[in-house]
Amino acid sequence: MKQLENAALLVNESLFATANGYIGVRGNFEEGYPNGYDTKHGTYLNGFYDTHVIKYSESAFGFPEIGETIVNVLDGQKILIHIDGDIFSVFEGQVLSFDRKLDLDKGYSYRKIHWKSPKGHEVVLEFSRMTSFVTRELFVIDLEVESLNYEGDIKIESFIDGRIKKSQDTDDPRVATEHIKPLVIKNIDHDHKHMTIKAQTEHSKSWVSLDCSHNLAGEIQALNDYIRYQTNQQISKGETIRFSKFMIYTDGHKHDNQQVGSTLLQEALDKGCDKLFAEQSAYLSDFWSRCAVDIMDEKDLTYAVRYSQYQLLAAAGIDGVSQVAAKGLTGAGYEGHYFWDTEIYVIPFFTLTNPELAKSILKYRYNILEASKERSLQLGHTRGAKIPWRTIAGRECSSYFPAGTAQYHINADVAFGYIQYYLMTEDKDMMKSFGFELLYETALLWLEVGHFSNGEFCIDAVTGPDEYTAVVNNNYYTNSMAKYHLEWTVKLYEEFGQAIADDKSIDEMKNAANLMRLPYDATLNIHMQDDDFLNKKVWDFDNTPKDKYPLLLNYHPLTIYRHQVLKQADTVLSHFLLDNVSDEIMMDSYNYYEPLTTHDSSLSPCVYGMMASRINRPDRAYDFFKKTVYLDLEDLHSNTKDGIHIANAGGTYMTIVYGFGGLRIKEDGIHLKPTKPHEWKGYSFSFVYKDALVKVQVTDKLIISTNQPITLIVDNRTIHVNDQLEVEYNGKH
Ligand code: BGC
Repeated sequence: MKQLENAALLVNESLFATANGYIGVRGNFEEGYPNGYDTKHGTYLNGFYDTHVIKYSESAFGFPEIGETIVNVLDGQKILIHIDGDIFSVFEGQVLSFDRKLDLDKGYSYRKIHWKSPKGHEVVLEFSRMTSFVTRELFVIDLEVESLNYEGDIKIESFIDGRIKKSQDTDDPRVATEHIKPLVIKNIDHDHKHMTIKAQTEHSKSWVSLDCSHNLAGEIQALNDYIRYQTNQQISKGETIRFSKFMIYTDGHKHDNQQVGSTLLQEALDKGCDKLFAEQSAYLSDFWSRCAVDIMDEKDLTYAVRYSQYQLLAAAGIDGVSQVAAKGLTGAGYEGHYFWDTEIYVIPFFTLTNPELAKSILKYRYNILEASKERSLQLGHTRGAKIPWRTIAGRECSSYFPAGTAQYHINADVAFGYIQYYLMTEDKDMMKSFGFELLYETALLWLEVGHFSNGEFCIDAVTGPDEYTAVVNNNYYTNSMAKYHLEWTVKLYEEFGQAIADDKSIDEMKNAANLMRLPYDATLNIHMQDDDFLNKKVWDFDNTPKDKYPLLLNYHPLTIYRHQVLKQADTVLSHFLLDNVSDEIMMDSYNYYEPLTTHDSSLSPCVYGMMASRINRPDRAYDFFKKTVYLDLEDLHSNTKDGIHIANAGGTYMTIVYGFGGLRIKEDGIHLKPTKPHEWKGYSFSFVYKDALVKVQVTDKLIISTNQPITLIVDNRTIHVNDQLEVEYNGKH
């Protein structure tokens, strides 16, 4: 069975991971694997990390010294089922049927196996795994074993385990080595029902605890660094045994004390599995009521889009100490770090459909503001905050500055996320309590890093989003986004900033924004990616074999930097986000950069897809949409095994709403410019705008419905909708 081949297992471990923004458990089989199988066993807690010393053979001033890496924590997945002496395994006996799914409505992953044991006993096993959105510390495995022809003993063993294996080191920078030693076990304890392991990270000395209990009485035995539980049951033909394993994870970054785990565990036991699953289902039904995308008569495609939406929810840390890792909680790729991915690719989904969650995610950057200020000083600046390029708790963890620290644009990206949220919600409390301060401190950095030259405000020696071009002067993306950032900081100063900012800095900001250099080439009528980009040689795409992609794994960075070649959207991304240049410049820039882009980064196809819609290239838009929506489900980048590409999941959602729907959040309101791919009968999506729940349905007609009167701008015309309105639109293909 293909599903049981090692390569497929690895990908499916990521695709079927169970996560809830705090806990992420890879989809490993409870019963384990035979020797020789190489799978990535893992459970991760968002924001839980250990530190390590970053080693450089040649260091320099301001290089980060300490890194943070997500930790593979205590394992609770293992369950062994003994039937008449045979231990259930899909690799033994006969698998008569095998079914696996992730139920997006009910919020659990599910595996059903009709199994014939080597002795010929037939059973049907159903595993349901749920990490709760209601109690974020809770992970449950609910198992049903139905006997079809067997009568006799059935023994179930269940383990919690502190013997964590270190993930393999790798040369792929997108995975990066796990520098982290396994956890140090501090305490192993149990009574007749509850079992607990407490451990500590080797360097940062942070505690983590796993509390576990089961619905059936059993015997418990503490062994060396793990605890084993066993229950013996009798089963008869046609009978089903239900076995539920309740686990609570807590850790020292999120929780005040180590006792809270046992209290939460008791609460979960008191509720029982049915109630816990019902709560999960109710949470998700509320979630989907605000955000579900539907593509008419396209069941699989609709599932694929919703899969991405679900992954965004499953990745989102909302407790202020965690945020959204590049791979969510589905794998240890990128070491569990938070990047600009969150504000540019992930937050739009929450801002549009779940502003409360958006606000919690945004708050995280404010909570690391002090660390960001410190980083600014370390870099030799005298004021302002420099948001780390990649981090967990606030330290800059990037050890390769050309594609790390040099990406100053992250300051403007975070600001963009804040401003878009504010425009959508008019949440003044947020601006007052932390938003403006974040905008201001991060905007100050532009004054530090930029300077005036020939009457223009220039920003030198930075890297834009395209990591195949590094440390350049006047990256268009950076400068245009910094301009937006500065303008909005100035604009919000009067109302929110009196106690925080000073007039002089605000004047400097106004001036810098007004005179910002935005490189433009009149002959090509495009924005230049940076001052020098067009002078470089164009990459020889014709003579680059397919197996040399991604370029980053096959060419020295300097070779790449010497050419006009893009890893991902850069100038075109600014055109998409800011939507503030003429259609002609947008089109010419798109046509220039698109053939130069490798899309070696998963953050790229969605942007080109959305811009293809914007410049009226429906075929390209649809092509890019397909590359985006199936990127993980079909493992198009061959690295889904390391975790789901969360920015791309956000991009999938955005290709529908911003791409085909043409939505933009601007100062004068919400704009829509819908187009309908001719491949589809129609599609619909919803968003929450100032407390109104708005549904947009695009077929040959455009129908907008709302539960409160709203004003929108459709194809540049202002329209008022009281409850439901059919609106003329231009983009029918
Ligand atoms: C991309 C970055 C991104 C990072 C994490 C890199 O490959 O070039 O833009 O932030 O992945 O997703």
